[in-house]
Amino acid sequence: MLLKGASLVHFHPPGLVKADLRVEGDTIVARGPRLRPKRDEPVEDCRGKLILPGLVCAHTHMYSALSRGMPGPTSAPTSFPDMLARVWWKLDQALDEEAIYYSAMVGAVEAVLAGTTTIVDHHASPNAIPGSLDIIREAFGVVGVRGVLCYEVSDRGGLRRRDAGLAENDRFLSATRTDPQFRGLVGAHASFTLRDTSLAALGDLVRYHRSGIHIHVAEAKEDVERTETAHGCGIIDRLERRGLLNDHAVLAHGVHLNDKDLARVESGGAWLVHNPRSNMNNGVGHAPVERFGERAALGTDGWPADMLAEARFAHFRLRERLGLRGAFPVASLLEGGQQLASGLFGVPFGSLAPGCAADLVVCDYVAPTALSAGNLGGHLLSGLQPAMMTGVMAAGRWVCRNGVPVNIDVEAVYCRARQVAAAVWRRMRG
Ligand SMILES: [Zn+2]
Repeated sequence: MLLKGASLVHFHPPGLVKADLRVEGDTIVARGPRLRPKRDEPVEDCRGKLILPGLVCAHTHMYSALSRGMPGPTSAPTSFPDMLARVWWKLDQALDEEAIYYSAMVGAVEAVLAGTTTIVDHHASPNAIPGSLDIIREAFGVVGVRGVLCYEVSDRGGLRRRDAGLAENDRFLSATRTDPQFRGLVGAHASFTLRDTSLAALGDLVRYHRSGIHIHVAEAKEDVERTETAHGCGIIDRLERRGLLNDHAVLAHGVHLNDKDLARVESGGAWLVHNPRSNMNNGVGHAPVERFGERAALGTDGWPADMLAEARFAHFRLRERLGLRGAFPVASLLEGGQQLASGLFGVPFGSLAPGCAADLVVCDYVAPTALSAGNLGGHLLSGLQPAMMTGVMAAGRWVCRNGVPVNIDVEAVYCRARQVAAAVWRRMRG
């Protein structure tokens, strides 16, 4: 396929170049000013349009998709752990196979509608663990989005569930070693719900699969406090001692990490994922994102995987906290997610260049002011909207055209999702 005449965007450092792109299979194979169509090659006229590299959501939970509008607890949670116990752990315990499938379908649909072509998911369903990651894989496969999946290992549900979670990660990592559309990570809940033997078992899996851990780190202050009380050290100490700060590790949140912790995360090569909407909604504090270093990305932590919306929240919250000193280039977090995907898939993402993944977003964006590489950040923050995305391609396949996911019947999926969600909510009450 030949995409002709668009302006090609690079998020960070900001870049804007007019060129044609040729896609073959799941890869961009050529880029140039006037590529000639080959015989019978489909040609897409993209004159006047922007093409963005496909967006990456670097931390989320698809199972939250069926919690929208869910009745809250009868009294307000008194702390973050209290909210986990009374809301989110009740929800994940109420999930069955069908709920896993439909939440993944709904979450994937929302992602592609917003130009997100890779989702790094962190899954938990304590009453339906074996095979749960395959269910998400199936749903993502139908919609056409890429997935990096893991099962959240924790001691909160006892040894049997912990071991089932370890086995599910192990199985999925083996099954997707060479899958072009999926990868696994070693999922773990958080330091405060993992004893030493469990962390050691996670470390064994990471080394065996040459993979990375995907874990919540210092999201709320209780994770830090309980780790210090129970283990006499910090969260980063524990991860470092088990060899878990490698370059595939995905550490979500990092709200309560100090400068020393951040330096050790950075020197270990691990990724930090900022989730501003979730942090603000949970009132857990604000991550020192301007000190996260180069290996930082953006996640939505259960909110719809609209990365441009998340980037706006990151920008506004930073400005609110730091005032006009808060000049951190938020677009670098979008590019960070693409670099994370590059490392996990072993293929370059994020630049629309030959040899890169054919994951891209065609935008019908009419700029009301001058648009250049120099002011691209301003247009991304205050101009570009999902409604302008006329074509979303993942792994060389169109997954969304003119605001409509092309591979599924959205109305039928949402109709069944509503019934499935009602059953989940009933089980939560019971
Ligand atoms: Zn999370």
